[in-house]
Amino acid sequence: MGRVHSTSKETLWLRSLSPEEGCKLKRHNYCSLCGTVKVKGEGRGRPVEHYIDLLDQVQKYLEDRRWLGVHPFVEVEKRLLVQRMRAMDLFSDPYGSYAGMQMHAFAAMLWEQRKGLSPRILDDILSA
Ligand SMILES: [Zn+2]
Repeated sequence: MGRVHSTSKETLWLRSLSPEEGCKLKRHNYCSLCGTVKVKGEGRGRPVEHYIDLLDQVQKYLEDRRWLGVHPFVEVEKRLLVQRMRAMDLFSDPYGSYAGMQMHAFAAMLWEQRKGLSPRILDDILSA
């Protein structure tokens, strides 16, 4: 569960940080409680469950390649990664998050946890 936000009726002109939207100036709503600017549209962040599911797909990908000498994550590594995501606002409270930033952080965590992971793994999974 993310934090509770209360979206303003008033909007602000701000530059979108989403490459999908060409970083154009757009009207943005924000949270009248904490001031976080709400991200809307195609580039908006996804809930943490989306990345937990993606982590399961990474695990399946690794398991399918065991015969190549690939080591899937052990249970405690997976739990650690989920714990880390839940502790980050970027994932647990995606109100002001961009999907691109989440994916960047997700990839960085995978590679930090498991050096030597194929750099193609996320492309392979996401384009499957
Ligand atoms: Zn808020």
